Amino acid sequence: MRVVLATHNPHKVAEFQQIVAQARPDLEIVGYDGPEPVEDGVTFAENALIKARAAAAHTGLPAVADDSGICVDVLGGSPGVFSAYWAGQRKDATANLELLLDQLRDVADPHRSAHFISTIALVLPAGREEVVEGKWPGRLAHEASGNGGFGYDPIFVPDGQPAGHERAVGDFTAAEKQAQSHRARAFTQLVPLLADL
Ligand code: IMP
Repeated sequence: MRVVLATHNPHKVAEFQQIVAQARPDLEIVGYDGPEPVEDGVTFAENALIKARAAAAHTGLPAVADDSGICVDVLGGSPGVFSAYWAGQRKDATANLELLLDQLRDVADPHRSAHFISTIALVLPAGREEVVEGKWPGRLAHEASGNGGFGYDPIFVPDGQPAGHERAVGDFTAAEKQAQSHRARAFTQLVPLLADL
């Protein structure tokens, strides 16, 4: 059986393929190259559903789409669904994280808590819809570090690291990130739903 993954991000396709291969080696993951819907939802779930519905309708296949971002507690959960273009529509990842660091410049460590979120929607052509969510708690660093990953990785320090040896995700290997990220946590919840297909 084939499942369409509604993303153009090759990182996400590769991660998804690996996770699915373990649970359902018979599922073939295909990319989506149909029309892009306008992502005008105001929650991660709405945007994931918009993308998955468009791909299911266009291909007639079960469709999976994810929407993700970073939520900073002291900013009331922002940037949230606006993470990709926090510093403007040009979607400049460096400008985004520099703006966030600047906004929190005078905020002390105990108040710098944040989390990454990945929300994944599964939409079947017959109409069934499921949404799962993975959360990766941590805090914002005071400066960017590392060249790994993408987006806000250089300024996000996940919880649960040994005191005095905390690193930003930008300093993680790809395998370290994949073992614990918000996206991996959401994918893990998706696996039983795929096994049901
Ligand atoms: P989208 O889900 O591809 O639309 O991504 C939303 C935005 O959230 C990205 O452009 C990044 O700014 C941010 N983001 C989502 N996941 C991650 C991650 O794993 N690391 C760093 N930034 C992320």
